[in-house]
Amino acid sequence: MDRKFESDIDRRSYLKLVGAGGAVGMMGTAGCLGGGDGGDGETTTTEGGETGTEGGETTDMEVTEIVPGTAPGFAPFEFKEGDELVGFDIDLTTAVVENMEGYELGEWKEFEFSSLIPALTSENIDLIAAAMTINDERKQTISFSDPYYEADQSVLVRTDGEFSPGSLDDLNGHPVGAQKGTTGESIVQEQVPDATYRAYDNYVLAVRDLENGNVDAVVLDKPVAENFASQSAVEVAFVEETGEKYGLGMRQDSEFIDALNEGLAAVKEDGTYEEIVNKWFGQE
Ligand code: GLN
Repeated sequence: MDRKFESDIDRRSYLKLVGAGGAVGMMGTAGCLGGGDGGDGETTTTEGGETGTEGGETTDMEVTEIVPGTAPGFAPFEFKEGDELVGFDIDLTTAVVENMEGYELGEWKEFEFSSLIPALTSENIDLIAAAMTINDERKQTISFSDPYYEADQSVLVRTDGEFSPGSLDDLNGHPVGAQKGTTGESIVQEQVPDATYRAYDNYVLAVRDLENGNVDAVVLDKPVAENFASQSAVEVAFVEETGEKYGLGMRQDSEFIDALNEGLAAVKEDGTYEEIVNKWFGQE
């Protein structure tokens, strides 16, 4: 990966800044490059050419922090491993922002999926990275990056074989679950009028209720459905092709939409994107 390359740049600018005699110990991290008094961790020095020492004082370039938000419980895109937030979207966002000059990624904030857009518009976060499908309804409120992943929907059922639907029609008359505010929910509400729809705060709870027999099916994104199927007593009954595309969400007036798309393009071009895909979706 280009991490090493980036830290070489940091090292160069750092050495230029403090002189070769300075202690070298914080490469690759933001903040504290200005020397002795450190700074507050929210500004850092990026370009060697644009910083320097003038009369013994350092002039740091401001770096804007992007606070990302996500909704864990959606493996392999975002989930908790112990206390740690991990997943495809976490790695991708980190790589993209590393490629955005003048920006750094802040601490992740976690929400239920349906609270992400309100968190963004109220400026609690600056970016949504949550396998969020780009669609016209959401575009009335927020902006999306260029697409970064394409998926279909799947219908999960228990592996006991009692109920094996082959189409959305077959779900009519059954209790069916989905996560609030998702495209899976829209499918149930709009295309399965005679199902008893049960809305869940997250898909972990929905799949638990499926295992318990409280619903007979759960509709959700195929890559995540397959992940649940590999870990619990549920299986994919059929796939509903939607070809929906995920994007990173930003406020409509966000100043970094273009910079983020450029960062995304760079990550796709330099092979980092493929590495992240292989890490989370490679054959086992
Ligand atoms: N892709 C789906 C949507 O955007 C589900 C996303 C999710 O649950 N994180 O609605």
